[in-house]
Amino acid sequence: MIWYAMLDQAAARRSREEAHNRKLAAERKRDLEWSKEFPDHPQKRQRGWAQPATIEEGHQVNERGYEQACVWAICNATGDASESSYGTGPRSINRCLLLLSKTCSCGARWHEEVEG
Ligand SMILES: [Zn+2]
Repeated sequence: MIWYAMLDQAAARRSREEAHNRKLAAERKRDLEWSKEFPDHPQKRQRGWAQPATIEEGHQVNERGYEQACVWAICNATGDASESSYGTGPRSINRCLLLLSKTCSCGARWHEEVEG
């Protein structure tokens, strides 16, 4: 029985490693997409280097005249606000954080969402 338990552990460790590698690959892909979308601001996310920012949700009238949910980021240090992005999903939030990092006067290379 002990052998089965060890095999189970090895399989569990392997699947954890695979999940971790998938996560890293997804992050690399996302960074690449962002650096294409914002070529003058390559993704420079580093742990411990992020300025906290608050995400606010609201509504905005889009080009076709419809009201649409949107988000924007506000730097906790300077109160600077980013441009808003349509949608409230992680991609919209990350886009706001990236835009804020480009324009914010606090000089941080990256802003990280904190619970507001
Ligand atoms: Zn800032």
